Amino acid sequence: VRPAYLEIPMALERTLSIIKPDAVGKNVIGEIYTRFEKAGLKIVAARMKHLSRAEAEGFYAVHRERPFFNALVEFMTSGPVMIQALEGDNAVLKHRDLMGATNPKDAAAGTIRADFADSIDANAVHGSDSLENAAIEIAYFFPSTDVHAR
Ligand code: UDP
Repeated sequence: VRPAYLEIPMALERTLSIIKPDAVGKNVIGEIYTRFEKAGLKIVAARMKHLSRAEAEGFYAVHRERPFFNALVEFMTSGPVMIQALEGDNAVLKHRDLMGATNPKDAAAGTIRADFADSIDANAVHGSDSLENAAIEIAYFFPSTDVHAR
């Protein structure tokens, strides 16, 4: 039996999730929220927003030189998105696992993208890819007073 002090503690993390315009249009916000909750992720901040071009460009600034950048900004501004901060043990990776691979053709069965994404461009959800980016992305959309410890 391992003594308790040797147990590796689970890391309580926060991550940023966006339900993209295609999934909002499919009316599956609730279904996606249910998946978060069943996986033990708590919604600690949320807002619906129709992003301006400048907001989408700023959010995806790391992809500015990529060939798909303009199409990505067009898509992300094509309708309202649902933006939330999620909190839980290993939230960043747990959320990425729930999302599935970027291209829904490669996404494992039962993931959000396998079930709701149409293509690599219209792929239903965004999730922070690291703890460092999660902090930056949460702060991009939420003042700290709008993120609620639970
Ligand atoms: N994307 C795209 N075409 C590509 C690669 C990415 O349209 O060939 C879009 C897609 O919406 C993706 C986003 O750019 O979700 C960000 O790409 P990333 O590689 O960071 O994937 P993610 O972290 O979203 O899985």
